[in-house]
Amino acid sequence: AQRIFSGIQPSGNLTLGNYLGALNRFVTMQDSGIETIYCMVDLHAISVWQNPDDLRRQTRELAAAYLACGLDPEKSILFNQSQVPAHAQLAWLFNCVARVGWMNRMTQFKDKAGKNAEKMSLGLYAYPALMAADILVYKATHVPVGEDQKQHVELTRDIAAKFNHDYDVDFFPMPEPVIEGVATRVMSLRDGSKKMSKSDPSDMSRINLKDDADTIAKKIRKAKTDPEPLPSETDGLKERPEARNLVNIYAALSETSADNVLREFGGQQFGQFKPALADLAVAKIGPISDEIARLMNDTSQIDAILGKGADRAANIAEPIVNEAMEIMGMVLSR
Ligand code: ATP
Ligand code: MG
Repeated sequence: AQRIFSGIQPSGNLTLGNYLGALNRFVTMQDSGIETIYCMVDLHAISVWQNPDDLRRQTRELAAAYLACGLDPEKSILFNQSQVPAHAQLAWLFNCVARVGWMNRMTQFKDKAGKNAEKMSLGLYAYPALMAADILVYKATHVPVGEDQKQHVELTRDIAAKFNHDYDVDFFPMPEPVIEGVATRVMSLRDGSKKMSKSDPSDMSRINLKDDADTIAKKIRKAKTDPEPLPSETDGLKERPEARNLVNIYAALSETSADNVLREFGGQQFGQFKPALADLAVAKIGPISDEIARLMNDTSQIDAILGKGADRAANIAEPIVNEAMEIMGMVLSR
């Protein structure tokens, strides 16, 4: 059977990258006829320091964002990771299946740790094993993610294959990353070689779903670009990462291709293109941010949705983790 799983960290301000690369696509997939399970991965978020009050607020805000983007908690299972203990249980089992050498190849750890690897939490290093558990505890087959998570989904497949091989079973499926569209890697507005991230120290590097119209317009106006006008074909964007990024954002927001955007704006200066992009971004994001604010007025309603989602998720996950433990030789009798 097919099953879709994905998650987002409640680690700060949701960005336009999270919306285009994840949220928006999650909502589309809930009508695909395949079961959809979406998670707030708070256990991942604490792999870097989170102030407890902020984490609580960010988790509820992330739930509100899922709902504001059109996620229907009747159609999809929506819940918070720490409320379903099977994720952490399977993660430990996978810590004992995955190899240190595999983790050493993960580029996200290197990107996030920089020169401070020795000072990072053990959790940040083991992050991909927990992510493999998130996916495989539902035996999910499809994982919609941004380009940056491709390597982690591939590692998930390696863990599944090693488990199946070591215990001579055909237990875990090989999940596929689903990376589609023009916005699989939205770049920073300040640096066309860096991904837009909610944890980037510079707020000017990203558009937040919570930004008001003036802030969005200002950030786009100040976005780094080059002095050339826009080309009339996408070939002309090859060596121009910042220009390509803005064109791709425009294409994703208007649900068209970069070619179509250049057919309209080719030959124009950024002085003309940027205000058009700002208007489009405000028109798309404004209603979402208003709806997040409205939902945050009643967090008890959000908590109730997450409670129900956690029960539904646990009903699927618990038997799978128990079976994995039995396969490994654990005695679960009472
Ligand atoms: P952090 O900086 O805390 O890691 P993040 O912005 O990378 O935050 P995540 O919670 O790690 O967000 O990722 C959630 C989902 O959003 C993942 O599927 C990820 O691939 C996707 N995503 C994150 N950033 C981008 C981006 N710039 N473009 C497209 N997709 C993105
Ligand atoms: Mg990330």
